[in-house]
Amino acid sequence: MYFKDIFGHQALKQHLINSVKNNRVSHAQLFLGPEGSGSLALALAYAQYINCENKLEEDSCGQCSTCRKYDKLIHPDLHFSYPFFPSKENVLATNIIEDWRKAFLSNPYLSLEYWRHNLDAGNKQANIPIKEAHDIIKKLSLKSFESEYKVLIMWLPEYLDTQGNALLKLIEEPPPKTLFLFVAENQDKILNTIISRTQLIKINKLNHDEMTDYLIQEKMIDKKRANELALIADGNIQEALNLINQEGERENFSLLVQWLRYIVTDNGLDLIKLSDDILSKLGRENQKSFLLYAINMMRQIILVQKGLRNLIFLQEEELAFVIKFSELFQFEQLETAIIVIEKTHYGIERNGNPKILFLDLSLQLTLLFKYQTFPKGTQYI
Ligand SMILES: [Zn+2]
Repeated sequence: MYFKDIFGHQALKQHLINSVKNNRVSHAQLFLGPEGSGSLALALAYAQYINCENKLEEDSCGQCSTCRKYDKLIHPDLHFSYPFFPSKENVLATNIIEDWRKAFLSNPYLSLEYWRHNLDAGNKQANIPIKEAHDIIKKLSLKSFESEYKVLIMWLPEYLDTQGNALLKLIEEPPPKTLFLFVAENQDKILNTIISRTQLIKINKLNHDEMTDYLIQEKMIDKKRANELALIADGNIQEALNLINQEGERENFSLLVQWLRYIVTDNGLDLIKLSDDILSKLGRENQKSFLLYAINMMRQIILVQKGLRNLIFLQEEELAFVIKFSELFQFEQLETAIIVIEKTHYGIERNGNPKILFLDLSLQLTLLFKYQTFPKGTQYI
């Protein structure tokens, strides 16, 4: 993670960089900032900067072996701990480190809700269990492998409960060159014993103008809409991302309903018009997102057919649509539809002509849903 990739917080970044330059890195620090402020990303950028082998004035180099491993969160001296949902297979945070890497790399502003969603955890209670505290003690007692510092970044120590006290001795008298970075959102919920042993780094939420700039610059949203979203998101980038996502999903939903209506009624003219005028003009990223959305909806329909409604998390309108669709079509048609939509997605990704790809897809789906004709090479067996 690089300071330059984190939006805002200029003064704080400078403060962190100076602390490294002046050799005043405290071994236990608490990055305290509200959800969506970027505090986890800042802690990681800081840890990377400390260990970068070729530090630049304002950021890590991005070239050295440490940077390259930090980029993928695979450095052997970089440890993470975070709340998760312990089960028989997953007793330690390390057991789901792959999920963690994926979640953070796809969204460095992630909230607990986003993380929960990535783990399909339903309504289970998040927790940092005592076994995890013991594992941290074990990990940090090892010598560092490659870097000067071993780093433990603990996200949301609020979920430690009293088992966190097992870590106190380690925080107080850490092995040499060991760095604890706690990243928290709510000071009231952290053990006082931890607060009193850490140096506080306070991270503010983005102000309205910063958030508007973020949306315009990073998300290509026009000024008026960015301003509206910034008002609702109130400095929380994760919330802004949720809002953008929901808007996209709503657009995808109404487009999908319209498209399928033309398909199942074999309304050729409107279908061609929709493919030509709308779908092929969405832009590649939106086209991919629309197709993935369509695939996901087909999967949801299959789940309904299989009586697995408890696995479905959809809004009311989408759920009604999925249930209706599940009564009209057979499993084989839906499975085949997924295959042909996936092929189109692949074609779009490979820079295929969207006009041709969408028209072809529309015709194949018409044959499939209206006439039960399975396109060549996709026959579901
Ligand atoms: Zn570097």
